[in-house]
Amino acid sequence: MKIPFVDLSAQYSSIKHEIDAAITAVIRDTAFIGGPYLKAFEKDFAAYCGTRYAVGVSSGTDALRLALLACGVEPGDEVITVPNTFIATTEAISMIGAKVRFVDVETASMNMDSDRLESIITPHTRAIIPVHLYGCPADMDRILQIARKRHIKIVGDAAQAHGAIYKRRGIGTLGDAVCFSFYPGKNLGAYGDAGAVVTDDPGIAKKVSMLRDHGRSKKYEHDIGGFNCRMDGIQAAILSVKLRHLDDWTEKRRKHADAYSRLLSNMPGVKTPKDVENVRAVYHLYVVRVNNRSELQKHLKEKEIETGIHYPIPLHRQPAYAYMKLPEGSFPIVEENARQILSLPMYPELTEQQIGFVGKEIQAAVGILNC
Ligand SMILES: *Cc1c(COP(=O)(O)O)cnc(C)c1O
Repeated sequence: MKIPFVDLSAQYSSIKHEIDAAITAVIRDTAFIGGPYLKAFEKDFAAYCGTRYAVGVSSGTDALRLALLACGVEPGDEVITVPNTFIATTEAISMIGAKVRFVDVETASMNMDSDRLESIITPHTRAIIPVHLYGCPADMDRILQIARKRHIKIVGDAAQAHGAIYKRRGIGTLGDAVCFSFYPGKNLGAYGDAGAVVTDDPGIAKKVSMLRDHGRSKKYEHDIGGFNCRMDGIQAAILSVKLRHLDDWTEKRRKHADAYSRLLSNMPGVKTPKDVENVRAVYHLYVVRVNNRSELQKHLKEKEIETGIHYPIPLHRQPAYAYMKLPEGSFPIVEENARQILSLPMYPELTEQQIGFVGKEIQAAVGILNC
């Protein structure tokens, strides 16, 4: 039984008629950049997130960059985030000339450790980017409280967490601005690059929408220096269609995660993701921790089960950040996790049989390998 890590064509097949009609309509109306389809998606996505504004942009990376700029982050300012995220999180910081400051994570959730956060804050700290890794919300009550006390901005990275809920609050409401990626493989994925910034702050919304479009307020009036970070009409129309299915897909992901956890919970040497209280995680990824990871991964590959590692090299150990001179041991929890984490196949269209097969093969491997 061949099990891919993700299967985007299975999802397309299930909504082909809606998608094809949406793409055709954009072409018919020649609404290629911005335009009515983008406006419609922004309205729908803001409503979905429970925020006043959603601003569509060209990618999740650009969403983060423009949100930081709109929050007033300037060259030389410090921005705190975690080392176990996709490099886009920190690129957004360095691209604007600000400095990346890392904080380690909690063992169980693998998200930002709010107990360590205060010790990283300096008078130059301008913003914090909590990453809701794998679709599980970070400890936002504490993080928001620490930030507010010091007038530090919170820019959430919800690129993996569309639809996640934290203590009855939508993930998009937890910060001054919250950023989403609609990269094709994300829980809400376009058919190309796209992203969004959501916020309740009219100033931030206005600034992001100007920055994404050459800093203009009117066609040829440019009030500030900006960029070209706009969202395509075709992507917006596709996202509007897919947004209507998102909650259904999320429920399926959660069901699959439950099934995996039931199959794997009593297996020696396999740590399953811990349920966090009062939180609805959306399982962009289902990540276990094991000791003999490469052997397990090899065994699964032989059985045609595709897995992934998110992410194998913590950011402070990447060549791109060698200049920070952060040696091995700087962030022990992140480093230990990086050696153990393994992402299992996860997408809404997975079947019970497929999950059962993955569970059976992990069990077999644990028996052989003493993982
Ligand atoms: C995907 C991702 C991004 C970047 O989004 P793009 O749309 O690919 O630019 C940022 N942060 C995290 C945590 C991500 O997973």
